[in-house]
Amino acid sequence: MERVIIIGSGPAGLTAAIYAARANLAPRVFAGYQYGGQLMLTTDVENFPGFPNGIMGPELMEQFRAQAERFGAVIENVDVSAVDFSRRPLLVTADSGEFEADTVIVATGASARWLGIPGEERLRGSGVSSCATCDGAFFKERHIVVAGGGDSAMEEALFLTRFGSKVTVVHRRDTLRASKIMADRALAHPKIEFIWNTAIEEARGEFRLESLVLRNLLSGEVSELAADALFVAIGHDPNTGLFRGQLELDAHGYIVSPDGVRTSVPGVFVGGDVYDVRYKQAITAAGMGCKASLEAEKYLEELDAERAAGGLVAL
Ligand code: NAP
Repeated sequence: MERVIIIGSGPAGLTAAIYAARANLAPRVFAGYQYGGQLMLTTDVENFPGFPNGIMGPELMEQFRAQAERFGAVIENVDVSAVDFSRRPLLVTADSGEFEADTVIVATGASARWLGIPGEERLRGSGVSSCATCDGAFFKERHIVVAGGGDSAMEEALFLTRFGSKVTVVHRRDTLRASKIMADRALAHPKIEFIWNTAIEEARGEFRLESLVLRNLLSGEVSELAADALFVAIGHDPNTGLFRGQLELDAHGYIVSPDGVRTSVPGVFVGGDVYDVRYKQAITAAGMGCKASLEAEKYLEELDAERAAGGLVAL
């Protein structure tokens, strides 16, 4: 029987683990086979406070992890396959067995959608990225391409004008999905150009991205566009498949929370990108993980008080 189970091992999950471990709750963390979250896919992280010279994403996550383990967090690199939040104690089924817990912190994050084209995966970190805030500064005075036509793509394109000599948005239709205000801003920006009705079919380059193969979806014409960077901004998917039918989710699959910490089930808390549609930063995720852990701690205190008084266990 665990006091706290944490599902996920990005900045939110591991910050929750540090706080819960320091509260002597010996949290059990299911980190996943691909542990560490989205920072494991980035190179230099220059905006995480405390590292004036930057730090590599994977190294930062190793440090989070070492800090949690130092205080007694038990971290297993296995996936969770099912949860049952309709019963008490809460039940978590991982590849290493079934575990019961008084509280669960859900920090399973989100995954950037990728185009799935040749060259994209090979050149990730070498010109291909899904995070302008993380990687934009590496492309000063370069030609940057953004894929997508939603708010994320417009936001990334506008942000990237600070660095690039030119930003080209390639969108598969001739209408933007983005909100009017974001679309108007991007359309009016002197540094942003649009290529409409066009799919990106291949990312080319030996060691770094050098060009993109484009196909006009109306004429079928294929062309090659020289580019130093490709930012794929076609949306994120929250990793919430496990929680369907267990927790309230919104239309996009994000966990619904009245305060950004509690979920629709008492004793189950949330932190990081699995809830956060808006900020999606390592530092905001870490802050949310901290809040989730502090709330879990308070919940456990109340539960213990009720148990000691022989009262009903809170549902
Ligand atoms: P989104 O609204 O779903 O837009 C995704 C865009 O990517 C669409 O233009 C879509 O094209 C395109 N796309 C999807 N799959 C593609 C593929 N395989 N190949 C090429 N293009 C593809 O996602 P989002 O922009 O990340 O926004 C998600 C939510 O967060 C929205 O509700 C948005 O308003 C919100 N958000 C708000 C802000 C803000 O207010 N500052 C910033 C970011 C996000 P189609 O248009 O053809 O479908």
